[in-house]
Amino acid sequence: MLFYRSMKSIKVLASILLLLSALFVLSSPMLFSWGYWAHREIHRHAIEALPEGPKAFFQHHADSIVSRSIEPDERRWVDSLEAYYHYIDIDRYGAHPFNELPREYNAAVKKFGKAYVDTTGTAPWRIADFTAKLSDAMRRNDAEAIQLYASNLGHYVADINVPLHTVVNYDGQLTGQKGIHSRWESHLPSRYGKTYKLGAKNPEYIKNPLTTAFDIILESYQSADKLLALDLETQKEIPKEKLYTYIIRDSVQVRVFSDEYYERYQNKLGSMVEERMNRSIHWVASYWYTAWVDAGKPKLTMK
Ligand SMILES: [Zn+2]
Repeated sequence: MLFYRSMKSIKVLASILLLLSALFVLSSPMLFSWGYWAHREIHRHAIEALPEGPKAFFQHHADSIVSRSIEPDERRWVDSLEAYYHYIDIDRYGAHPFNELPREYNAAVKKFGKAYVDTTGTAPWRIADFTAKLSDAMRRNDAEAIQLYASNLGHYVADINVPLHTVVNYDGQLTGQKGIHSRWESHLPSRYGKTYKLGAKNPEYIKNPLTTAFDIILESYQSADKLLALDLETQKEIPKEKLYTYIIRDSVQVRVFSDEYYERYQNKLGSMVEERMNRSIHWVASYWYTAWVDAGKPKLTMK
């Protein structure tokens, strides 16, 4: 009885923790992805990177596929599980290359428990699942489903190319750097994106979508420490009165980082954001291409 009661209270506690973490994630609207500008650019260039076979369909539906690139971010307001599909805090699973984590979802759940695995982020499994769904939609020549799964799959693939989507300290909250998430993935591309040389050539066939998702995560993870360190360095170099500026947003005065901060930080990062965007473009096109090859290279009708 006592054992039963304590198990029950553990379960209640686990549910409360899950709910609280969901509320926390939901209350942070900017912490889900590349900014909207970057997501759209990544999809636009990924379409151009495709080889002749699937390209005509994607070009024909470019407006829809590009505008729906941000759909998964919007869906999080109505689906409490959605937020977890956009990241994985891979450093919760030991040290690089994180072999403690079985790459198969069921094996991971068996080892760590479902609540832990799910709340630590499930992006790689979502990507594998949506690659299969996109391939199936292509096999059926279902134009609407192809647009849905292509745009959404592209979003998740682009997100794991953001280094802060792979670490526990995803918003600098553990190191006094709160806000770094949106400064890096949203504000920097919005400010400097026009100077980036974006594009990719020759998307590759992906033998195992799940394994490759983990490979991308490991690559992306390599830049997390560096971008956090350079942010701290930048903040230390600028006197407090020049680090921030004040703007009016919805009739309220808010403190934001200054132009000087962004210029210095961008200079230190060099081409890092641009490179991560280009890797995103390459991988988004590669996943779309792979789904088409796996579907048997069908001729996709426009409809
Ligand atoms: Zn996202």
